[in-house]
Amino acid sequence: MPIRQLPPDVITKIAAGEVIERPASVVKELLENSIDAGSTRIDLELEQGGSELIRIVDDGCGIAPDELLLALAAHATSKLASAEDLFNVTTMGFRGEALASIAGIAKFTLQSRARGTEIGAEIRSDGGVIGPLKPWSGSPGTRIEVRHLFFNVPVRKKFLKTNASELGQICETLTRIALAHPHVHFTLRHNNRQVYDLPRSENLAERIGLFFGKEIRNALYEIDTPPGPYQLKGLIADPRCDRGNSKLQYLFVNGRWFRDRSLSYALMDAYRNLIMSGRHPIGFLFLTVPANEIDVNVHPTKAEVKFRENATVFSLIRAAVKERLLRENLVPRATMPAQPIAPPEMMPLPTLFMPSRPQPIADADDLGSQIITADTSDPQPPPPPLPMMFPTIPVGTAVQMHDAYLIQETPEGMLVIDQHALHERILFEQVRRRVRDGQLEVQRLLIPEPIELPAAQAAAVLEATAELAMLGLEVSDFGGNTILLSSYPTLLSRRPPHEILAGVVDYLVSKDRAPSPEVMLDHLLATMACKAAVKAGDKLTPAEIQHLLELRALAEESHHCPHGRPTTLLFSRQDLDRQFRRT
Ligand code: ADP
Ligand code: MG
Repeated sequence: MPIRQLPPDVITKIAAGEVIERPASVVKELLENSIDAGSTRIDLELEQGGSELIRIVDDGCGIAPDELLLALAAHATSKLASAEDLFNVTTMGFRGEALASIAGIAKFTLQSRARGTEIGAEIRSDGGVIGPLKPWSGSPGTRIEVRHLFFNVPVRKKFLKTNASELGQICETLTRIALAHPHVHFTLRHNNRQVYDLPRSENLAERIGLFFGKEIRNALYEIDTPPGPYQLKGLIADPRCDRGNSKLQYLFVNGRWFRDRSLSYALMDAYRNLIMSGRHPIGFLFLTVPANEIDVNVHPTKAEVKFRENATVFSLIRAAVKERLLRENLVPRATMPAQPIAPPEMMPLPTLFMPSRPQPIADADDLGSQIITADTSDPQPPPPPLPMMFPTIPVGTAVQMHDAYLIQETPEGMLVIDQHALHERILFEQVRRRVRDGQLEVQRLLIPEPIELPAAQAAAVLEATAELAMLGLEVSDFGGNTILLSSYPTLLSRRPPHEILAGVVDYLVSKDRAPSPEVMLDHLLATMACKAAVKAGDKLTPAEIQHLLELRALAEESHHCPHGRPTTLLFSRQDLDRQFRRT
C-alpha cells in the first residue's frame, strides 16, 4: 500500500481508541471536565451500562456560546497554553482531546450556559458530523448527552461486556473521583434506578462509609503528615478489616486517582506483621506534591503518574502509615457466638480466675533447650527456657488452658492469649532489636554442626550467607550438600539449632525472587522466632507465664505474631454481659 495521509475521521477514531475504551472511559472524561469546571453538583444518568446513554449535568462554570464549537475540536483546551504548562498541571484534563474523541464515536449533544450569562447554546455531533450552533435556555452549567456509543465503530462495540460489568466499571470510576472530591454532590442513576446519592460532605470518612459500609468507616485511622512540599493525608483501616485483594487501596496525588505498584507496596509494607500474608490492607491515601514534581502525561488514560522523587514518596507513605498503626492498641476483638453455649460445660466457669495451682518447675531439657558447648574457657550454663530480659513489672496473672492459651482478667474484660503466637512475637522483636543495634548475642558451637540438605536448599543457604550471619547463623560450605553451622543466636536457644536453620531454609527456597534484604531479614527472624517459641502443648510454669505477660507488656506490637496472626483476643465485659443477657 502506498503511504497516505489518513482522512480526519479515521484520525479521530484512532485517537478515540486510546482514550475511550468503554463507557467508563467516557464517564471518567466527562466527570473530570465537570470537576475542572468547579461544579458543586454533578448528576449522572445511564442506560444499558452506558452504551445506550450517558447523560451528565453539572453546575460548573459553563462554556460561552462562541467557544462551544472549539470545545469539540481536537487538541482544543482552556487548560494549557504552552509546553511548559505540561509540567505544572493543576487540572484533571489538559490534552483537549476528550470531547472531540467522544463526539466522533457517538451521537453527542453539548449544551452549556456560562455562569453569569442570560442564555446558553447547544451543539450536536453525529459521529463527528457537527451540526449548527443553536441557543439553549437551560440553567447555568453544562449538560452533555452521549447516545449509542461506538455506533460507528462496531468492532469496539463488540468488545463491550455485559451491562452489569460496564456499570461496575463506571461505579469504580465514580468512586475514585468522588473520594477525591467529597465536597461535590454526586448522583448516579442507571436504567431509571438510583445507584448513588452522595451528598456534599467535608468528611472523607463519611463518603468512604457510603461506598464501602459501616464496618470500614468505623475502623479508620487518620493520617496527616506535617506541612511540607510532600504531604500525605488520608485514612487507613484497622488490620482486622484486611481483604483478599488490594482493591480497597486508593492512591491520589493532587486530587487525581492513580495506580502505582511500588506505592501500594509501601502501604502493604507498613502493615507487615499485622496482617497475614496473602491479605491486603485498606487505605485511602492523598498525596500533595508540588505540581512540577510529577509528570501526569505518561499514560493514555492518565492512570499512572511519574514522581520526580519516587523514593521520597515511598518512604513518606510507609513511615506515616507505620507510625499511625503503632499508636493503636490493635488487640483484635473476639466475635462472640450469637447463641449462648449450653450450660453443662459452662458450669465450672466461676473457678476460672482462681490462681493456678503451682506446678513443678519444668526442667530446661524438657523444654527442648539444647546444651551447647561454648568456646569460652568457662563453660556457660544452659540459657533459661524463657530468656529473662526485663525487670519485673506488675502485669497481673493468667491461667493456662489446654497447654496452649493463657486467660487473663483485665479491667476491660478477659484476654485470651495464644502462648505460641505471643512468644513468637516477643522473640521476633528481641532478636530484631538486637540485630538492628548490632548487639545480637551469639552462641558459638565448639564443634560446628554438619547439616545435610537437598542440593537446592544447600545452594540457597550458601547464597544467603551474609544475611544469615546478620541473624547470628554462621554457615559455611562443607562440600557435597552439607553445610556447617557454627553459631546461632542465644535468644533462640529453646530449639536445637538445626531446627531453627531448617525453618529458615524453608523460607529461602520458597522464594522465587530475591526479596530486599530488609524484608528477607524480617521473614527470617519471624521464621526463627516461630521455631524457637513455646508451642501449643507446652505446659508453662507459673513463673514462665508471669514472664511472658511481662514481656508482652513491653513488646512494641504484642497483638499480632510476626506472621500476622493475632496473639490476643479480647472478650469485653460488655460483650460477656450481653451474651448472658445481663444488660
Ligand atoms: P481538556 O479537558 O483536556 O481541556 P476536553 O476535550 O475534555 O479537553 O474539553 C475541552 C474543553 O471544553 C475544556 O478545556 C473546557 O474548557 C471545556 N469543557 C469541557 N467540559 C466542560 C464542562 N463540563 N464545563 C465547562 N467547560 C467544559
Ligand atoms: Mg477533559
